[in-house]
Amino acid sequence: MNTQFKNILHSLGIYHPLQSQYRNFVFHVKRFFFKISFFSYKGHGYTCNVCLQQYFRFVDDWPAAENKNALSINNVIAGYGKNIICPNCLSNARERLVIAMLQHHINIDNKKILHLSPEKNIYQYLITKSQVVTADLVPGFYKNIDKQIKTEDATAFSFADQSFDLVIANHVLEHISDDLKAMSEIFRVLKKGGVAILQVPYSETITETIEELTIDNPKKQSDLFGQKDHVRIYQLNDYISRLGQSGFIVSKISYKELSAFHQHAIQVDEAFLDIKKPY
Ligand SMILES: [Zn+2]
Repeated sequence: MNTQFKNILHSLGIYHPLQSQYRNFVFHVKRFFFKISFFSYKGHGYTCNVCLQQYFRFVDDWPAAENKNALSINNVIAGYGKNIICPNCLSNARERLVIAMLQHHINIDNKKILHLSPEKNIYQYLITKSQVVTADLVPGFYKNIDKQIKTEDATAFSFADQSFDLVIANHVLEHISDDLKAMSEIFRVLKKGGVAILQVPYSETITETIEELTIDNPKKQSDLFGQKDHVRIYQLNDYISRLGQSGFIVSKISYKELSAFHQHAIQVDEAFLDIKKPY
């Protein structure tokens, strides 16, 4: 979209409502198409833990052409591949991994939760069990998920120390230049013994994290990091060590150890990081 036209829509306060209606329209068209084209794959293969429908195959999802190179040469586990999208509800593999952990590994009954850049399927699961505050730097984008979403900068939260039992920022830190500040803010607002879910795209084959903190060039960001608004590709051990520097205790649960959840078509080879603030 032309930037000047975008600015006019912003100044009229209708950019995000229009964008959200457009996304809604695309969602329904895709859903209609997948439901019909995947009807013959219905059966006991994978079970979606959002809508509980079962299919032998889920929908594959591959990166856009401009992002492919950076993701493939750096072997980034970034949420693409076979069996990523549920043909019935369109949940994706990264949401289903978090939901599986919330259902079986992390107790969220009656907890206070901060959900940054909220994903619809995760948010809707959380609110059945807990008190949830959602926030984003650009909240307009998420108003269709939670009308009450707050404007918050993850590197300078307005929340008091030890306000939350759980903070979820799923695939967020790779967008933030000062990620250590964001990690320390998440640590600060968590209660002692609190948990953070901070999954990111990562590579285990690069020798160090690739990053450019002041970059503001979508084309170059696609070339370097595999997405137009990312500022880095984390090297997994470096990511774990940054979380450690921020005070967290981190343990890695490998894809193999997540075998009970493979039936939900989670991302192949993606590990889950169990991140806790110590007592
Ligand atoms: Zn589903």
